[in-house]
Amino acid sequence: MSVRMRHTRAHTRNRRSHHFLKGAAVSKCQKCKKPVLPLTMCENCGTYKGREIVDVLKKLTKKEKKHKERELEAKEEVKGSKKSLDAVSLSKK
Ligand SMILES: [Zn+2]
Repeated sequence: MSVRMRHTRAHTRNRRSHHFLKGAAVSKCQKCKKPVLPLTMCENCGTYKGREIVDVLKKLTKKEKKHKERELEAKEEVKGSKKSLDAVSLSKK
């Protein structure tokens, strides 16, 4: 093999300055607001684009089921309370 042209440390480092990793493009689940990879189902609540694809509660044991149901209900209640507050504030105006 022939000897390549001489390169400096700066040239090597400038070239390698573009070799860094970029963070994954993460979006939020429409239902539970957890971070989700694009074009994949949410692993927390089993929905994709707002539609339920997989029943998440089916595979869990009784104890885990109760815990998960409470978790999902709590999030929905928070959503509902926010909406009701908006309605009240709008009616006052
Ligand atoms: Zn979700």
